Amino acid sequence: ACNGSVEIDVSQRKDDITTHGLSEMTVGVLGGGQLGRMLCQAASQMSIKVNVLDPMKNCPAGSISHYHMLGSYMDSTKVEEFAKICGILTVEIEHVDADTLERLEKQGVDCQPKASTIRIIQDKFLQKVHFSQNSIPLPKFMKINDEESAKRAGQDFGYPLMVKSRKLAYDGRGNAVAKNEKELTSAINALGGFAYGLYVEQWAPFVKELAVIVARGRDNSLLCYPVVETVHRENICHIVKAPANESWKILKLATDIASQAVASLEGAGVFAVELFLTEDGQILLNEVAPRPHNSGHHTIESCYTSQYEQHLRAIVGLPLGDPSMKVPAAMMYNILGEDEGEAGFILANRIIRRALCTPGATIHWYDKPDMRKQRKMGHITIVGSSMGIVEIRVKSFLKEESSEET
Ligand code: ATP
Ligand code: MG
Ligand code: MG
Repeated sequence: ACNGSVEIDVSQRKDDITTHGLSEMTVGVLGGGQLGRMLCQAASQMSIKVNVLDPMKNCPAGSISHYHMLGSYMDSTKVEEFAKICGILTVEIEHVDADTLERLEKQGVDCQPKASTIRIIQDKFLQKVHFSQNSIPLPKFMKINDEESAKRAGQDFGYPLMVKSRKLAYDGRGNAVAKNEKELTSAINALGGFAYGLYVEQWAPFVKELAVIVARGRDNSLLCYPVVETVHRENICHIVKAPANESWKILKLATDIASQAVASLEGAGVFAVELFLTEDGQILLNEVAPRPHNSGHHTIESCYTSQYEQHLRAIVGLPLGDPSMKVPAAMMYNILGEDEGEAGFILANRIIRRALCTPGATIHWYDKPDMRKQRKMGHITIVGSSMGIVEIRVKSFLKEESSEET
């Protein structure tokens, strides 16, 4: 089940020819959130050492990393200091100091994916420009500098209009919808005005959102995971269904566009490609994440090689693993904070208790110190012999009265 075509460029690998295990490279991860935590979990199985750089003492990855350096991944000095104790640098968040990564790369530090990729992706407007230059289908987009240019965009693209922050966006924070010209000002203000950089996107009339995780080895070989459907609640990923229930033609188109998008970026690792499927069967790219992603959590239980193991294999230069599913169907349910503080923990606990008694369900709890509304606190993956069975199982842990049934 291994991609036999993967060859490692030994000249680039310096001292990583090991006979004592999988890799002696110490992987440094910028960011210590849940993605970093799950990278550490996969690394532990392969005995690969993972250091994390995160400013939060009790961040999700801290306690299970090989070493947690306290500090910000936006702080140049800290990133440089961190690079000194790592063999390879990678990211679990794209909002890191790309200038420093670029400088370190020039000094010979191994960054995977490349700093150029992080730079393009962390600015959503640059990302759109990059993909449109590479002929990837996208919703129409335009930079806006003032109310006038915003109005012009509205006239060109029509309403609703999606206004987006160029930088620091995640979980829909950074998006504001203007339903008409009158709402433009409030949408712009909701994103903090023009100071941090805004752009607009034409509304994508999607019938479904799809996502594809694409892995790329150090030799540039690509492997795609099965296409999944993502369901968002208030702009936040809530449910992922694997595989997506679409025709072969749509799945092929989604996979082709995802691989083309990733092929246009530099460096090894896994990349998540978020896509819109329109009524007339078109696929438009929404955005790419240069790292493991929420839409790939299910791979831990449902695929031969999880996205986390794959990311580590890719960056250290091991052969890529089989991305195919080992179960017929899987669903991932994000446990989002329903309330602040203790009340939120009690609500989350009810779901977890019932999921513990649900066949095919695996619970992941990220151990975030604070409960906040809409925050990703954990997730549950449910596998089964068909999507119908998986759906029944999910309903059984979401509904209190039927918690004992499967
Ligand atoms: P993530 O947590 O995935 O990084 P984000 O904050 O970067 O999210 P986007 O992916 O840009 O935000 O958008 C979040 C969601 O908003 C999308 O998944 C989609 O549901 C909706 N959305 C984004 N852009 C558009 C658009 N142009 N037209 C319609 N809906 C959109
Ligand atoms: Mg994003
Ligand atoms: Mg997104």
